[in-house]
Parts: sequence; C-alpha cells; structure tokens
Amino acid sequence: MIDPATIEKILDAADIVDVIGEFVQLRRRGSNYIGLCPFHNEKTPSFTVSPTKQIFKCFGCGVAGNVVSFIKEHEKLSYQEALKFLAKKYGIPIQERELTQEEIDAKKITESLTIVNEFAHQYFIDILHKNPEGQSVGLSYLKERQIRDDIIEKFQLGYATSSFNGIVSTAKSKGYKEDFLIKLGLASKKNNKLFDKFRERVIFPIHSLSGKVVAFGGRVLKKDEKSAKYLNSPESELYTKGNHLYGLYFAKKTIVSKDKCYLVEGYTDVLGFAQSGIENVVASQGTALTKNQIRLINRFTKNLTVVYDGDAAGIKAAIRGVNLILEQGMNVKIVLLPEGEDPDSVSHKWSSSELIDYLNQNETDFIHFKINLLLKDSGNDPYKKAEMVNNIVDTILLIPDRITRTVYIADAAKQLKMDESVLYRALQQKFYKKRKSGFRKEKKIKPEAVTPQVPEFVSGTYAQSQEEELVRLLLKYGDKEFVYTTKDKDGNEINQKFQVGSFIISSIRSDSLLPEFKNIIYKQIFEDYANGKTDIKYFINHENDDIRKLVANLLSRETKVSKIFEKLGNYTLPEEKRLNELVIGVLVLYKRKILELYRDQIKSEIPKLEDNLELQNEKLIQLNRIIQIISDLTKKYNFTPI
Ligand SMILES: [Zn+2]
Repeated sequence: MIDPATIEKILDAADIVDVIGEFVQLRRRGSNYIGLCPFHNEKTPSFTVSPTKQIFKCFGCGVAGNVVSFIKEHEKLSYQEALKFLAKKYGIPIQERELTQEEIDAKKITESLTIVNEFAHQYFIDILHKNPEGQSVGLSYLKERQIRDDIIEKFQLGYATSSFNGIVSTAKSKGYKEDFLIKLGLASKKNNKLFDKFRERVIFPIHSLSGKVVAFGGRVLKKDEKSAKYLNSPESELYTKGNHLYGLYFAKKTIVSKDKCYLVEGYTDVLGFAQSGIENVVASQGTALTKNQIRLINRFTKNLTVVYDGDAAGIKAAIRGVNLILEQGMNVKIVLLPEGEDPDSVSHKWSSSELIDYLNQNETDFIHFKINLLLKDSGNDPYKKAEMVNNIVDTILLIPDRITRTVYIADAAKQLKMDESVLYRALQQKFYKKRKSGFRKEKKIKPEAVTPQVPEFVSGTYAQSQEEELVRLLLKYGDKEFVYTTKDKDGNEINQKFQVGSFIISSIRSDSLLPEFKNIIYKQIFEDYANGKTDIKYFINHENDDIRKLVANLLSRETKVSKIFEKLGNYTLPEEKRLNELVIGVLVLYKRKILELYRDQIKSEIPKLEDNLELQNEKLIQLNRIIQIISDLTKKYNFTPI
C-alpha cells in the first residue's frame, strides 16, 4: 500500500488535463476542456475536464471522477496501480506503507502461488529440452508439427513427462508447499499420495498482460480416449478463465501497431500464425469469447478479425460468437479457411505471404458475411427471405453507434436488393421496442446517475433527493458565506452572516438528524465533513470510488438541480447569489420530509392498535404533535408546501 504522503505528492503532481490529454484530444472551452469520451462512442464531445476542480465528467455516459479514476477506468487498473502509474509518469518514488496482517496474508498467498507457478514454468521448459523423454517425445512432436525453435522459445513451451512423481518430487525437494501445488492444479492428492496432474503433455504457459505466468494448458500427444485432449489449470487467485487470452502478452504491441487483432481458436493456431509472421494473434482457448476478453482486445484495437475453419461447425460458431463482439462496438471481420483446414494447418502448408494474401482477400465484414450466408440459404422463398431480413436487422441493432448502424442498413439494402427505407423502418421499430422493454438499460449507464444505489431502500421512501442536495451544497459552497434574515419579536429584520458548511452541519446536528441519513455514501461525506474534513480536495481524491464519482458528478452540475427550486423562487440567478434560499430551503424540505416519513409511519400503526387503546391514544397525540411541527416549520420559513 502506498502511504498517504506519497499519494498526496502524486495527486499534487498529476495535472488532470495533462494526464487525460495523453489519451483524449482536448479542446479548451471556457474554463473547461472538452473532448470525445473514451468510454463510450460519440461524435460530439460531451466529455468535460475541469482543470480548476481537477475532475472529469462525461455528460453522455456518466463516468466521472478525479485523475486517478480516469487512469483506473481507462487502463483497467486497480486504485493502487493507477497511483503507481501516475507516480511513474511524474517520477515520484513510491513509499509503501506497512501492510496489515490480513493484507500480508493475502499478498503472501498470491506471491507464493506466483513463485510456485514460476518454478513449474521453468521445470516444464527444462524437461522439454534436457530430459530424455522430453526430447524424444515432446520436442520431436513439436518438430514433427514443424514448429520452429524460435517459436518454441518465444512462447516458452514445455513438456510434462509420463511420470506421476515428476514435478511433485522436484517441488518437494525445493520445499514448495503441497497446498499451493494442489491449488494451482499442478498436483492432485489420492489416498494421501500426491501425484502430477500434467502428464505426457506439451505445456503451453498462459501469461497475464504483464507477462506473469498465471496458468498452463497441456495438450496430450497420444491418441488416448481416456485422457482429455487439453488439460487447463483450474481457476485460482492468479487465474480467472474468461479474463485471459492466450498469446495476448506477446501480441499486444503488434496489435497496437497494426491496429488489428486476429482471433483464432487454440494454442497451436496462435503458434502457426506467429510462425508465419502474423504476430497480432490471440486465442480464445476453444470456448466462446467472454465480455472481459473482448474488453481486453478493445483496449488495444477496435478491429477484430475472427478466423474460423471453413466447415459447417466453424460457420455456425462464427455466427454465434460475433454478437457479443458487435455489442462492444468493435469492427468485426470474418475469414473462413478452406474446408478441413485450420490456422495451424494452413500456416505450415502455405508460405507466409500466401497466408497473408489469403487473409486479406477473404476477410469479409461480418454483416456482409451473414447476409451472403442467409441469401444462399433462403433462395427465392419469400417467407424465408422475410425471416432473413429480421435476422439481419437484429444483428445491426446490436451495434452501439448510430452512424455505423445507418451505414450498415444502406449496405445491407444494396446487398439484399431492397429499398433502404424498408430496412430502416424495421430497424427503428425494433429499436424502440428494445428500448421500451428496457433492454438497453442494462448496457448503458444511466446518464445522470448521481446517486449510488442503496438496495435496502426502495426509492421514494426516504428523503434521498434532499440528502443529495445537502451534500452538494456542503461540498460546493461549504466555505462560502450567506446572509440569513430573521425577524425579532417586534418584527424587525435581523441579518446574520453564516458559513454554509457550518450552518448546515449544526442545523442537522441540533435536530440529531445525522443518523437519519439513509444513503451510506452521503452519510459518510457528512460525517467526514462534520469531523473537520472540509477541504473539497479530500473528497475529490477520496480512495472510495463511489465517493470520487459522486463528488465529481455533484460538482459538475451547473444550475437547476430539481424541480423543488423552481418553487423556491428566483432560480434564474446563479446559485452563489441565492445561497440563502438554497440552504434554508433544502434544510426545511429535508426536515419536513423526515417528519412526514415519521408521520406516515405512525399513521399506519394506529389502525393496528385497536386492542390497545392506551397506546393508540398515545400515538394519536404523537401524530398531532408532528402535524403541528410540520405546520410550524412551514410557517416559520414562510414556506409554500409543494
Ligand atoms: Zn462517455
């Protein structure tokens, strides 16, 4: 963990415009900078960076936060990693604070697992090159498959012998714990005896993005029906299956420089392409791509070409897998290889330039590919043709960007020899239907979603909007002063100056309302503020993601927050000029809301007390008192009920 003083140094050094400017082209507009949001597709900039507040906010998709939030989101790093990223950029040496015992334990396990995996990695490599069985079986198999030495070395291939006691005995002699070997799937225990899991297999190490070996894939060499063709490491603290792509660590640089990524199925397909000089290639390891894997690729390029076997199963797989990729806004192309071939086989059959030519010439845009396929299938059957149009429109609907959708509709119309407007109307209909059914909600973040979700409360049952408004006034105008006007007994006006922050805090405290705060995030901000954390920077740079996001959102709101202020009077004046009515108005509203909730609760209790008239009477008196207080409150502040 980085110690607080270093965090402060990093935050002081990292200028948000400077940092974001490296990823987003920013233009000055007024006191802010604007640019195209890197987190969602847009044509007109709604991504705003404020150099004075040191925050950013996208008015299109709702992302917001400070400079650390940006790096965290954009580079897909943890909070600590994002800080280190910035420290590196600004040349600030990292001082780490001492870890808690819990953190030490968790770190120890991950570190130990990493060390054991590194040992296993080297062990498998050594066996392949130095052990007699490794050489005669493993290495000669790879040679048979025409895999070159430089490729074996680059991808750090290894071999596991037929022994049940290979890696187990070596690991034991080096003092590695049984538990870790089992956890990593390197060994298994039966009848109290530990034995090797990977046997007679070529080993493909799977690397994380930073090059750490997180798992292994083992391919059998014998055609033995008893053992699975592939054995993969189980999930562990180091490895989550759908979060890695085979080969990405070696491919990422080329993916960026070529702005394109080839997706193949298996380990040997990656090796084959790499051997033919196509280095921007990754494998999904046989299964369908997950969203996280697509996001991984999306970090390096938007252009993905999926290479499939040309048989019926391959074509089916192509159709199935692509929807998810389209949804992520990527440009997907398809290459079908000749029937009976796979990337591995063609890479050995064809010369490197033949393969590259084939890929370039046969690469088809996915939508075109699908239309061609369906056209072949439907022939002249009008019923089938209608079904096909539906199918195509459904696919185009998945594309998040509107302009791209329109382009595809035009292309599809041409290909289908149909009128463009017919397809466009079908698209529109489906679009609205989909939106109505709430389908789009799950993908898009709600634009002004300022309030963190508090699941235990049904919305509307507590004073959420007033809580939020109080917190906003506290953060935005806490250090400003306002004049509070009251009247004395004789009706003379008394003007008193107050600071917004201390006025709100003491007003809430005097009625013991802090425990009433239902939203834990607001409550924490309130408590921190009341305990002297009145510097807005403290909240902008808070280590809690939700607080950073909330604060950036609240500070980015310019005027008119909710309809309540239209009722409160002169809302055309800038907020700073009417702090008096804002502060008093929200406090009164908040207190009233709490009282009303209390009133409603008692109201609902009274009918249930038919057989306890004494208690019922007591409640009736309470109820009357509350109604009186509400009425007094309204009168005192000359407040018109809404
Ligand atoms: Zn956005």
